[in-house]
This record gives sequence, structure tokens and C-alpha cells, in this order.
Amino acid sequence: MEKREELFSGKAKSVYTTDDKDLMIMLFRNDTSAFDGKKIEQLDRKGMVNNKFNAHIMEKLEAAGIPTHHEKLLNDQESLVKRLDMIAVECVVRNIAAGSICRRLGVEEGIDLNPPTFEFFLKNDDLGDPMINEFHIKSFGWAEAEHVEKMKELTFKVNDVLKALFLEGNILLVDYKLEFGLYKGELILGDEFTPDGCRLWDIDTREKLDKDRFRQDLGNVVESYELVGKRLGLSFD
Ligand code: UDP
Repeated sequence: MEKREELFSGKAKSVYTTDDKDLMIMLFRNDTSAFDGKKIEQLDRKGMVNNKFNAHIMEKLEAAGIPTHHEKLLNDQESLVKRLDMIAVECVVRNIAAGSICRRLGVEEGIDLNPPTFEFFLKNDDLGDPMINEFHIKSFGWAEAEHVEKMKELTFKVNDVLKALFLEGNILLVDYKLEFGLYKGELILGDEFTPDGCRLWDIDTREKLDKDRFRQDLGNVVESYELVGKRLGLSFD
């Protein structure tokens, strides 16, 4: 697999074309950002930890029948992925109230959401990723109706698989964000699943083990990501 030119560089990852037009290399950098890029830091080992964490989760999702763009881990900070036409919406499922839903609805952090709730956000940094509904997606043509249904279905299926997986490590999956894209007409999961894009709490202490440690200056950011990985059986040496 030959790595060619950089196609896109986001806040924490970069993607490169390869000699295969259907495949890309995704590089997990050490950059960590929050608040629409207003807070940025380099955290040692984070690229490696997130790359291995993501590969593990994507493999579990594939095994559970959820199609993902993940092909294989290439080295410490890079993975080979399918090249998708990304849909510019973010799909969020919440099992417990935290983050923006608390600010928006004035609800207390930590409330169990039964059933889990679902939100769409428009991927647009200039607008601060506003929350949107499925009528907006269809009216503005951001995705086809059938793909909207499929994104909801797959996002909830991910919840069933990952809630159980994290629970085995005594971790609560509080919420998470997914992004989807089209590969040869099929809707599949893209982007990443790492503690940068979800909330994970220790089941006993409710200690935060995700990017809220960075957002809230709690320290031990990468150490907490590693702890979660180790509880899932991963090794980062
Ligand atoms: N999230 C993300 N990228 C974003 C916005 C949110 O990965 O651009 C994740 C976030 O880490 C959390 C979930 O989506 O796990 C819900 O985020 P929320 O709406 O609560 O926003 P936040 O308070 O994180 O800004």
C-alpha cells in the first residue's frame, strides 16, 4: 500500500490517498481540540492510543454486523480505511444526560435516559455544529430519506453492541457521536470511535474517562483513554 498525498486534515486526524482509489490512510495525530478548535494541545501517545482503540472498536462493530470503513491497522498511528463520500451530519445517541443536552435543556448531568435519545447535528464548524432534525436533512438534501433511516438504525445498533462491550470493563457508555458515508452506494460507518468522540464513565465512581478530562482540565487524559482500552483487553505497548 503506497501512501500518496494528504487529502484532508482535520483537528485530530489526517487522511491520505493511496495507490488504490477506494482506500485511504487515516493518521491519528496527537493533536487534541475542544470547543470548536478554540482549545488545542498536543498530547503524547494520544494518536497511537486512539488508533488502536478505534481499530478494536471497529472490529467489534464489524463482527456484530455493522458495516464500517475500517480495513486494518497499519502501524502505531495509521489505519487503512475505505474512502467514503461523507454525509455532513453527526449522529449522537445518549444513554445518560451530559454535555450539550444539559446546557440546552437545563437538565442535570447524570440522569438516565430511558429510552436512550438521539440527536442529529450539522457538521459545520463556522456555525458551531447546530442541532438539526431529520426534516432539515431531507429538505436541504444533506442525505436521502433511506440513509437517514439507516443512520438511526445503525447508530442504535452500535449502542447495543458498545454498551455491552464497555459494561464488561465496568464502564458506562454515556453518549457518542458517529459519522456515516457512502461506499459504492452503501451507507457505512466512517470517521472514528475513540474516547475523543464519546463519554465513558467508571461504573462505580462515575469518574470521567473521556475527552471531558481535556475539556474540563481534569488531567490524565491519555492515561484515562489507555485505562479504558486496557479494561477492554487492549495493550498499548
Ligand atoms: N461530539 C464529538 N464531536 C463534536 C460534538 C460532539 O465527538 O463535534 C461527541 C462528544 O464527545 C459527546 C457526544 O458527541 O460524546 C455528544 O456531545 P455534546 O452534544 O454533548 O457536545 P459537547 O458538550 O461535547 O460539546
